Amino acid sequence: GSARRLSGMDQDSAVAPDAKNLRVKLVLLGDSGVGKSCIVLRFVRGQFDPTSKVTVGASFLSQTIALQDSTTVKFEIWDTAGQERYAALAPLYYRGAAVAVVVYDITSVDSFTKAQYWVKELQKHGSPDIVLALVGNKADLQENREVSVQDGLEYAEKNGMFFIETSAKTADNINQLFEEIAKRLPRPLTS
Ligand code: GDP
Repeated sequence: GSARRLSGMDQDSAVAPDAKNLRVKLVLLGDSGVGKSCIVLRFVRGQFDPTSKVTVGASFLSQTIALQDSTTVKFEIWDTAGQERYAALAPLYYRGAAVAVVVYDITSVDSFTKAQYWVKELQKHGSPDIVLALVGNKADLQENREVSVQDGLEYAEKNGMFFIETSAKTADNINQLFEEIAKRLPRPLTS
């Protein structure tokens, strides 16, 4: 890959944000149960542990990656912690977010429909230059697939989103998801 993970750089003592060291708020949206927490835990801790949920509302997890051009990107990742049930609160949650990752479960067409609802919400209320990613998770469950790759890809393309299928369980495409997002961030102009 073009990025590597930096251990020990995910604390607040890490370098201040500047042109070379970006810090971005990333929010996850999608139906309950699609695997949002598992994606975060896989990315940040390298584990798949369905029993350990991110603490409700407490804080966010962060993870820094380095790109080939020596830029670092520190993701401050906000999990909805069940707020998907309170649509009216959502704009507070994604305010200031540079990135929104909308997740569905490839074995649930209902979760894909719900994902489209969140995309419309973000288009209405999110910041105009927000980077939007559409993620079809649980790609390891091919035998139960209800949403085709084609359907995910077409919807994403129509809405100017980056699309990828992932598995938090097998780690497939999890790091790639965040690396691709990092590449798509608007960069401050440097001399
Ligand atoms: P959230 O409500 O969106 O945060 O979903 P969770 O991260 O709590 O995951 C919900 C359930 O889906 C858990 O039982 C996980 O074990 C399971 N799960 C999450 N990601 C995957 C995946 O990639 N593959 C499979 N097979 N199960 C997953």
